[in-house]
Amino acid sequence: MAIKILLDAGHYSGYNVSPVNSKYNEGDRMWDFHLLLKTELEAYGITVDTTRSSKVTDKDVYIRGTAGKGYDLVISEHSNASSTQSTDYPVVIVPFNNKITDLGEQIAQTIQITMGTIQSGRTMTRTYVSGNVTYDYYGVIRGAVFVGTPGIIVENSFHTNSKMTAWLLNDANLKALAKAEAKTIANYFGISTYKNSAKITTKCQFYKKSNIAKGSYCVLAKGTTVEYVKDQNNGWSKVSYNGNTGYVKNSCIDKGTSKYKKGVTTSKTSLRTGMLVAKSTDTSVVAPKGKKVTVISSITAPDGRKWCQIKYKINGKTCDCYVVKSKVNME
Ligand SMILES: [Zn+2]
Repeated sequence: MAIKILLDAGHYSGYNVSPVNSKYNEGDRMWDFHLLLKTELEAYGITVDTTRSSKVTDKDVYIRGTAGKGYDLVISEHSNASSTQSTDYPVVIVPFNNKITDLGEQIAQTIQITMGTIQSGRTMTRTYVSGNVTYDYYGVIRGAVFVGTPGIIVENSFHTNSKMTAWLLNDANLKALAKAEAKTIANYFGISTYKNSAKITTKCQFYKKSNIAKGSYCVLAKGTTVEYVKDQNNGWSKVSYNGNTGYVKNSCIDKGTSKYKKGVTTSKTSLRTGMLVAKSTDTSVVAPKGKKVTVISSITAPDGRKWCQIKYKINGKTCDCYVVKSKVNME
């Protein structure tokens, strides 16, 4: 299976209005941001879900964390607050067990560079002790850790700093930040293939929803190159074109799967269906020697080992799996 990430917008609509700019509130802006990040992560073939379907409803933070069961990562997106207006550093709060601090440092650094903060990015942990047991202080992290998933809180600088607040209010900036964070996260999981391009094979409408009644952005001419995001499994594909993300009918698009490399297994080998070190025992599927496979990308796992991400049929269903790179001969 592909990498799975659960995204959380830190707060509900209208929460934490900036004291230096009344146009900004953390609840609404980080809601917008987590949806942009979702689209960007999906462009790397990562499966992304969100903790809430509506920004006006709140949810217990611990429950949001435990909803991360079965995911590779939970990310809660925020902007920070300080009584000192000049404070602007990005910080990623990581679990105290230290398993994902590297990723936290990489994200903090990415935010520092993208937003141009004066103070440097950093990570931190916060814990409390109860009955001689140490727990992560923040509920979303504690909940995620409880179900065996690393959970982090990302503070995208400070909405008490007017320069950073103005920066976050700019739509193009927010998109650039989503793009940069998605790249860092995807690369951490060893994924570097961004947005498969696809060709429009028949002049067709580019719909706003996978529902004709909801209207379209524009007509796409035959031969137009769009960015393929994912198959909706309902006859439609999610694609991105000219800055908009929408839907086209599967019958109008060539996803160009032929551009993927083919390979053949050099010996009988187990396949992994998850890529984190924690899932090292997840090798239930065995491919025979000489099996032809479609190789989507070559990736390096967090532990440094090299793998191929392949398409493989399991019980009649095509799945994303991983096979040790040395066991595949590229054709
Ligand atoms: Zn917050």
